[in-house]
Amino acid sequence: MMIKSDWHIHSEYSFDAKIPLEEIATNAKAYGFVNVGITDHANYNDEQFLGDLDNSAKNVLEFRKKHPEMILGVELTPIEKPVFDYCAKHGTREGYTHPVCDKAFDIELAGTKEELIARGVRYAVGASHWRVDGPGSVANSDTPDGKIKEWYRQQLWLAQDERVTILGHPWYGGQGIWYEDFSVIPHSMNMDLAHALKENKKFVECNSGVIFSPLTSEKFRRQYAEFLRELFEMGIPVTYGSDAHGKYSDEHIITEELLRKAGFCDTDISDLTDDVLW
Ligand SMILES: [Zn+2]
Ligand SMILES: [Zn+2]
Repeated sequence: MMIKSDWHIHSEYSFDAKIPLEEIATNAKAYGFVNVGITDHANYNDEQFLGDLDNSAKNVLEFRKKHPEMILGVELTPIEKPVFDYCAKHGTREGYTHPVCDKAFDIELAGTKEELIARGVRYAVGASHWRVDGPGSVANSDTPDGKIKEWYRQQLWLAQDERVTILGHPWYGGQGIWYEDFSVIPHSMNMDLAHALKENKKFVECNSGVIFSPLTSEKFRRQYAEFLRELFEMGIPVTYGSDAHGKYSDEHIITEELLRKAGFCDTDISDLTDDVLW
């Protein structure tokens, strides 16, 4: 068995997910998982930034008393620094307008490492979900080139941030731009990303939610597994994350098949050990 743990699961305490902790524990046991990491969103839709996490943490830590295999993590999303600053000051997004700015907005995450640790969080998946580089950039798909550059910028930033343990679902959200053919992303960008991950001792995630999205092509899946293999061979440890939201299923089995074709063997997928966890 190649995949022994799942480090990216959303429980019913994520605003966009509905899986009870009980179902996760029961199925994980049936799959023979050693660890299951619950990574509910912080800040995805929450102007208090850590409000949703508070609820997740309270419930997961309670549940964990009977299920020590369940580990509390969090998924952090890059957001525009001006939005973060405004909400932190006013407690609401209401009245916020994007500042006029001729360069990409700076990036922020939901809370400091101390604030996360204080809630019992033991690791963070940091993952890009949308553009934060300028007014209207979320709504406008803009040019493919602009989109690739913005994902590159965010992911490089995440690779260097102290709060991030795992770079979650690299290149998620292509919506066709690179989900057809992953080679539209310059190899040099992936090498820059690899060097940043390695230098900062980060993990990179094999995320089955991205790989088996209905938007991805066969070709993309094969290329993506090869990309993960290249990073692995450069010394970047790879973790597995299902990114389950709706039901907790055994997608790791088809993921293993794909990884095997790219050269992964049984001992190649990492766990987060105590020396890595906060
Ligand atoms: Zn995500
Ligand atoms: Zn997720």
